[in-house]
Amino acid sequence: SKQYQSDLQIAQAAKLKHIKDIAQSVNISDSDIEMYGNYKAKLPLELINEDKVAESNMVLVTAMTPTPAGEGKTTTSIGLSEGLNKIGKKTTVVLREPSLGPVFGMKGGAAGGGYSQVVPMEDINLHFTGDFAAIEKANNLLAALIDNNIQSKEDNLGIDPRTVEWKRVMDMNDRSLREIVSGMGGKPGGMMRETGFNITAASEIMAILCLAKDMDDLKEKMGNIYVGDTYDGKAVFAKDLNAQGAMAVLLKDAIKPNLVQTLEGNPAIIHGGPFANIAQGTNSVIATKMGMSLSDYVVTEAGFGADLGAEKFLDIKCGYSGLSPKAIVLVATVRALKYHGGQALEDLKKPNTVALVKGLENLEKHIENIKTFGLPGVVSINKFVSDTDEEIDIIVNRCKELGVKVALCEGWEKGGDGCTDLAKEVVKAVESCTTRYKPVYEWELSVKEKIERIARKIYGAKDIEFLPKAKQNLKKIERIGLNDKPVCIAKTQYSFSDDPKALGKPEKFTLTVREIEIASGAGFCIPITGNMLRMPGLPAKPAAVGMDIDNKGKITGLS
Ligand code: ADP
Ligand code: MG
Repeated sequence: SKQYQSDLQIAQAAKLKHIKDIAQSVNISDSDIEMYGNYKAKLPLELINEDKVAESNMVLVTAMTPTPAGEGKTTTSIGLSEGLNKIGKKTTVVLREPSLGPVFGMKGGAAGGGYSQVVPMEDINLHFTGDFAAIEKANNLLAALIDNNIQSKEDNLGIDPRTVEWKRVMDMNDRSLREIVSGMGGKPGGMMRETGFNITAASEIMAILCLAKDMDDLKEKMGNIYVGDTYDGKAVFAKDLNAQGAMAVLLKDAIKPNLVQTLEGNPAIIHGGPFANIAQGTNSVIATKMGMSLSDYVVTEAGFGADLGAEKFLDIKCGYSGLSPKAIVLVATVRALKYHGGQALEDLKKPNTVALVKGLENLEKHIENIKTFGLPGVVSINKFVSDTDEEIDIIVNRCKELGVKVALCEGWEKGGDGCTDLAKEVVKAVESCTTRYKPVYEWELSVKEKIERIARKIYGAKDIEFLPKAKQNLKKIERIGLNDKPVCIAKTQYSFSDDPKALGKPEKFTLTVREIEIASGAGFCIPITGNMLRMPGLPAKPAAVGMDIDNKGKITGLS
């Protein structure tokens, strides 16, 4: 059988253009970019042009409910942007920055796959231009200022250390830091308290950076971060500590989007990487607007399935920024459809049309949801080499019956040449779009009503149960004045419900809201369903143990 090269081998074999040439292809001169070596550059915010943003076409790539392996949203986004460029539409792909946790843990990198990748792949997956490090420092500066305020007599705000919710962060999967006691060592060591570490991608600073319009907005949002309560029960915010100025200083470069290239030498902008469960799960507003300022089409991705990613993209990111996609691409795979139809994970490469047909109910619910957003959708079948023609035909025919645009995407195997059909369908969808998206809820509704609306309309829940802690949190949300904020539901990506084992299209289920966290700086509330880890652990056999670098600097084992 045919031998396939690894993502890393393909990326290392690529002949990259100088980043100046990529900049020039979108009419930016050398003097306007800030180069980080020959293949990466920061783009100054002055290059954002609101008139161009208003004219440009944004396409959102999302997916059906995935298998644990991921169904290829990033790969499809990159392939589609190559395909659009091939058919003559000037396109930039705009994506999130990978976190080191998954790179060294289980999932691997996040720079696409096969012949649909962004490069330099190693750099993008490893530290890149240092944005995550800067976000970590800004986050940890606030933590240090909080503990210092609790310790010192000067300007003491009377913060009750037991109420402090702000944690330190680090960009690594390290479960041992999830819950710790800090401030040991007696009086000179600070006030002892229970705390912990989150992974950097789960930091509220990451969510804020990705929603901020500019430096002033970034500062305002960081000032609004809720820190904890005083002993008399008064809420304390980062601005009460005058923290936001210094935090913003640390983010002076991290706020600027990063320019790189695709394997076919088209522009790619990669910036920010918030989690898709406890945050909005998509790249920065600034990066999206930059892409739209520089090209006629922008292809972008939202993390997790469409029930989470697309909903948050619209109700939170678009709600705050005023952006609106002109088409939604829904990635489907034969393997995920079979999985939802009951085929065992280890057998997904084996043909099974019965399971596939049964699994279509999952895809159909996502298609129905996209209709409620009021936007044109295109189903993109991400083709795997194990897929049979018969299986693909079943999906295509079902989509045709439903009157939904559908195309086969072979970007992984063929790059842009494998995505021209999809690109043409996407252009048709974009050109047919006449309105902005319809939000799932109005922000004026209470947080409780907003949660119920999403759960019923998008997830298909019958009932919504609020546990006592969540009810208590609702009161606090009212007290702090956050009832008019959008909600960012933290839920498993493996099911429409809060039970990861409920595949397909679960019916008559109850969504249980355990608690509701607040991200008052980012400007949303986070209802937690199920168990959410903000600091993951490494798997038994981490990807890290298979990595190496030789004397010439050549890396192996990165996936
Ligand atoms: P997502 O963005 O949805 O999480 P990715 O695009 O990162 O998914 O893809 C997940 C993994 O699957 C990657 O390792 C990628 O290389 C691989 N992959 C994606 N599409 C294909 C395909 N058509 N054939 C084989 N592997 C693929
Ligand atoms: Mg992805």
